[in-house]
Amino acid sequence: MSTKYVYFFGDGKGEGNGKMKELLGGKGANLAEMVNIGLPVPAGFTITTETCTHFYANNKQFPAELKAQVEEAIKKIEKAMGAELGSKTNPLLVSCRSGARESMPGMMDTVLNIGLNDETVLALAKQSGNERFAWDSYRRFVQMYGDVVLDLKPRSKTERDPFEHALEHKKEKAGVQEDNQLSVAQLKELVQEFKDLIKDRTGKSFPTDPMEQVWGAVGAVFGSWGNDRAVVYRRTYGIPHEWGTAANVQAMVFGNLGDDCATGVALTRDCAIGTPGFCGDYLINAQGEDVVAGIRTPLRIEETLSKDMPKSYEQLDEIGKKLEKHFKEVQDIEFTIQRNKVWMLQTRNAKRTGFAAVRIAVDFLEEGLIDEKEMLQKRRLPADDLNQLLQPIFDPAAKKQADKEGRLLAKGITAGPGAASGKIVFFAEDAERMHEKDPKTDLILVRRETSPEDLRGMKAAKGILTALGGASSHAALVSRQMGKACIVGCGALNIDYDKGTITVGSKVLKAGDFLSMDGFTGEVFEGKVTTKPSEVIQVLINKTMKPEESEVFRRFDKLMKIADKHRKLRVRTNADLPNQAEEAISFGAEGIGLCRTEHMFFDHLDEIREMIVADNLEHREKALAKLLPFQRKDFAGLFKAMDGKPVTIRLIDPPLHEFLSDAHLESDPKLAEKLSKWSGKSVEDVKKRVEELHEFNPMLGHRGCRLGIVYPEITRMQARAIFEAAVEVQKAGAKVFPEVMVPLAGFATEFKNQEKIIRETAEKVFKETGTKVEYMVGTMIEIPRAAVRADQIAENAEFFSFGTNDLTQTTLGMSRDDYGPFIGFYRENDIIGNDPFQQIDQDGVGELMKIGVERGRKVKSKLKIGICGEHGGDPSSVMFCHRIGLDYVSCSPFRVPIARLAAAQAAVEG
Ligand code: ADP
Ligand code: MG
Ligand code: MG
Repeated sequence: MSTKYVYFFGDGKGEGNGKMKELLGGKGANLAEMVNIGLPVPAGFTITTETCTHFYANNKQFPAELKAQVEEAIKKIEKAMGAELGSKTNPLLVSCRSGARESMPGMMDTVLNIGLNDETVLALAKQSGNERFAWDSYRRFVQMYGDVVLDLKPRSKTERDPFEHALEHKKEKAGVQEDNQLSVAQLKELVQEFKDLIKDRTGKSFPTDPMEQVWGAVGAVFGSWGNDRAVVYRRTYGIPHEWGTAANVQAMVFGNLGDDCATGVALTRDCAIGTPGFCGDYLINAQGEDVVAGIRTPLRIEETLSKDMPKSYEQLDEIGKKLEKHFKEVQDIEFTIQRNKVWMLQTRNAKRTGFAAVRIAVDFLEEGLIDEKEMLQKRRLPADDLNQLLQPIFDPAAKKQADKEGRLLAKGITAGPGAASGKIVFFAEDAERMHEKDPKTDLILVRRETSPEDLRGMKAAKGILTALGGASSHAALVSRQMGKACIVGCGALNIDYDKGTITVGSKVLKAGDFLSMDGFTGEVFEGKVTTKPSEVIQVLINKTMKPEESEVFRRFDKLMKIADKHRKLRVRTNADLPNQAEEAISFGAEGIGLCRTEHMFFDHLDEIREMIVADNLEHREKALAKLLPFQRKDFAGLFKAMDGKPVTIRLIDPPLHEFLSDAHLESDPKLAEKLSKWSGKSVEDVKKRVEELHEFNPMLGHRGCRLGIVYPEITRMQARAIFEAAVEVQKAGAKVFPEVMVPLAGFATEFKNQEKIIRETAEKVFKETGTKVEYMVGTMIEIPRAAVRADQIAENAEFFSFGTNDLTQTTLGMSRDDYGPFIGFYRENDIIGNDPFQQIDQDGVGELMKIGVERGRKVKSKLKIGICGEHGGDPSSVMFCHRIGLDYVSCSPFRVPIARLAAAQAAVEG
């Protein structure tokens, strides 16, 4: 049997369905699904993503079987719609629409009004009784076909789009402002001028045969999978290049036949902050693309559609409810109203801010639309997006002040939550360049509207503000996805790109001036307005708000508690100081997975330097003894803060030259002399000692347990500080549970050497104080040898903690401090898919982790294993850790909620 490349939908039934997104793309699968649940959808068919893959693998040729399948499907559309492609009395028009597995808004191409030519246009005019409509459709078609299929481009960077140029020229000559004020005769002239332009620029004639037009459009849609902006988009959002897009050929319906027609884009609930209720844009007497392009500021569905077109509003509302119930998700829909009848053209799960995601998920649960496990799904609540709930808002006092000073400039439509304050920049390129040069200066990208070309600039900005467009415009959609503060449709702003100014009434702001915006309210202020912590932070960390005062907190807290119920992984934090530890506990941390002891040394450089330059053991021990009380005090603070929760303390890790090097001597002229006095060495000898510490490759040098092995007195002092602190806190009535961790061991003998010192010291302290404390001794697994020989190490170690930063460096042979110059190139050229220092390189580093877990647990089946690298707060890495059976992840305090959610998602999604 030959491969099925074409799936028909229409006449109440689709050959595909909503589950077939891989094969039919998101748009195609959901068009079929909507047909299947009885919604009004113009008939059409989907050409599979496999066809696209074939197309790229075969020098842009279609598979041989495709022709017959497409022709047969066209016949079915003709039958369903009662019209015929190319007919001179009753012509069928179709669109050809791209649609990949995951939506890539506006990145690929779509061609509308296919089937028009000099003859069918006359039939369309007659049939619709609207000659202007017919010729305007033809004008749009030739233009789109020229752009998309025949690839007519401006000849130089400064030349404008030649079609737009001709159109402007025509309007000027006619003395009109809007496209739809052109007369039939003028539209006819334009069609001819467009065709001439095509012939002139490309050497090709505009094809009159509708079937040839269809094939041209299908090829162009597949081709658009490979265009630059689509490639950049996929790289940004981690969509594989191999997937390919589907192409959907679908009967046209018309929103531009008159005032009983409209086109619109809507969300079944607000997706900026999650408020329930329909939310969207529509334009009366317009074709669909006009809304998304943000050229005219559209009307708001929730405000006026029920008055403008009450019957259609009712249909739409019913469709919205049916969709939410069926898909169990907020839907983002595209529709067209033709002569008071609503036609559905698209539906997909709506992109939303983290704010809206939490509210919608909890509301759906409380409305009984979904259960807990469904609520926790990753696609519904990307764990990283929880960050947004921790994002700043305007400081009320600063805002009041700004109001009083009359600095409120304008109000727009809220599209992305969070407050932002920064310098005005008008062009995406400038934003990108300025951000690269100085990432600390916050920027607000201000535009009339945004387009897919602006993506990188939008990424660089703290906030995005547009004068045109509605809640479904490009700017709104993209910033929601990026989790940026965004305001759109701020019509009061008069933006002049040439002059580089924004004018509002009598006020003029220039590029580089400060502007502040509140994505929660839509308010735009001139100048700076101080921002302050989010409600969640105010409740949990600053305690400036009571839990019951914040709905945002209530939902956040409910979500977190449900996540905790479902997750298997424990979540700890990396913290060195008691106040960090307390913060982390407020965020839900269940222990400390990594306390770096050297941070404390940096506060006591004199003592550690004295130790380094000391000549003999006795002298070194004397210097170390001075450090002991400081370490003990810090540890005691941590133990108290954690109150019985496990605290993993890593012994000294960095090479000694981080505390004392040539550079230090140079920057402090008196230092050498001081050291000479302390050590009794000559200044010369001190300098020589410092020189000796220099390393060519410090990452692989004398560091980690190698220090404690060569200088056992350091380990002895640190162990003593830990156990004395533990005894002290326990005596005071609190619980303590220290886990002493040896860094960088690769040989079992290294671990044993250190373990012996630690245990002997513990016994000594217990004897001296007459108190015993429960504790464990374990090791980091952070060099490949340790993972491979985990069995030998596990003979003695009571726990493992994967140090994935070093494990990544040593496995990849790639230094985190030196990979900057090539990692960008690697990512852009798809040499590697992800930054291995952000997401665990599962195939490489992850394999070693699996080996480590397996071999370690073979020796000790209950071996406690965690991870304490940066990856511990990355959702995909957390899910990986769940899969390989770790007991806990540890991450920075602010990422604890993210890790809790990701851990629950790993558990419910398996
Ligand atoms: P995108 O993926 O960029 O949104 P679409 O394929 O959805 O591109 O097409 C953009 C718009 O074109 C749609 O929102 C719709 O308004 C209009 N459109 C596409 N196909 C049809 C059709 N068959 N009839 C009427 N309008 C259409
Ligand atoms: Mg669309
Ligand atoms: Mg390390």
